[in-house]
Amino acid sequence: MSSGTAVADTNWAKLRKRLGDRLVLPQDAGYDQLRLPYNHVYANRRPAAIARCVSPQDVQACLDFASHERIPIAARSGKHSYAGYSVPEHGLVADLGGMADVRVDGSSARVGAGARLIDVYEGIGGAGRALPAGSCGTVGIGGLTLGGGIGVIGRKYGLTCDHLTSARIVTPDGCHRTVSAHEEPDLFWALRGGGGGNFGIVTSFTFRTDPAPDLAVFSLQYPAGATADVFDAWQEWIATTPDELWSGCGITATGALSTIGFDGTYVGQAKDLHRLLDRMPPGGERTVREMTYLEAMRFFAGPADDPGTAFVASSRMLRHRVRGKRIAELVDGQRDGFLQLDSWGGALSRV
Ligand SMILES: Cc1cc2nc3c(=O)[nH]c(=O)nc-3n(C[C@H](O)[C@H](O)[C@H](O)COP(=O)(O)OP(=O)(O)OC[C@H]3O[C@@H](n4cnc5c(N)ncnc54)[C@H](O)[C@@H]3O)c2cc1C
Repeated sequence: MSSGTAVADTNWAKLRKRLGDRLVLPQDAGYDQLRLPYNHVYANRRPAAIARCVSPQDVQACLDFASHERIPIAARSGKHSYAGYSVPEHGLVADLGGMADVRVDGSSARVGAGARLIDVYEGIGGAGRALPAGSCGTVGIGGLTLGGGIGVIGRKYGLTCDHLTSARIVTPDGCHRTVSAHEEPDLFWALRGGGGGNFGIVTSFTFRTDPAPDLAVFSLQYPAGATADVFDAWQEWIATTPDELWSGCGITATGALSTIGFDGTYVGQAKDLHRLLDRMPPGGERTVREMTYLEAMRFFAGPADDPGTAFVASSRMLRHRVRGKRIAELVDGQRDGFLQLDSWGGALSRV
């Protein structure tokens, strides 16, 4: 979201009057730590200020200020933007980390826009409910929901944004609105996959949840040299597996022959998952564990204090099969690199 060009003589005192020490400027203690994005490729970005918002009124103050001073502004939820979009150079960061409440009320959950996925899972899963969302626990609910939200129970339950029933958003005119299928339906439509930072700053999301299912989580790892054949077999396999099964394929460069392996979840019992896995090629090392929904989300989440790393990544949808031989040729002999392919379909395709 851009309101114009940054100017050196921006009147920060005006915003500081409204936010106090929640406004952090480059000369303030903690600025350097606070500005860091997850992707360290953008670690040298220096926003003009970071506003640690704790209420919709703070967000309104930021948008109002950015619009009057004509400086760029970006919302920041979990900082995981691949391209550093939540840290605008010379702009204002509206950091939503202080708006991370998760409240469950029956089958509905209201989540502050700065919550990290692990907090969402603890809150919703802890209440015996489930929301399909991403795996990495430090990703923010803000960028994830606005971009769609894919995860390990998505084939059974759909995208995160499919479960959004309403959102509270501050639009660029400064209004704090509720959007839903009945109020501002066009804006509601745009928030379900239209991407972060395009239509205003969402302050909270309300989701429809499901009863938390029991899951079986698996790993299946093959020795080096099996990539081409196993990849072909996996593509055959996923075309016939039920919605309850999600699997992700990881192909890792080793400098010589690549390795191929799979992680996945099954909504159901281990014995039924074993029957499905028996149809994959022999020779893989298999582990299967039954877990509650919350245990499984913690398992996939990774460390809660993940400081981030430098990376370049991009994603594509493959709509047709790819020959395993071609995939192996791409990765075999490479010193570095990782190819991740997720199996979609199911509820994700039925929207
Ligand atoms: C390690 C890693 C693992 C990932 N795993 C998954 C996964 O399992 N599933 C999946 O679907 N995606 C995954 N992603 C992609 C992730 O969903 C996107 O990168 C997402 O945009 C990150 O959201 P964020 O809030 O953490 O990032 P931020 O950098 O805070 O925000 C991303 C964008 O959204 C905007 N934005 C954030 N909050 C708001 C708001 N409240 N209102 C308006 N705009 C907002 C920001 O301005 C920015 O443009 C992963 C990314 C990484 C780096």
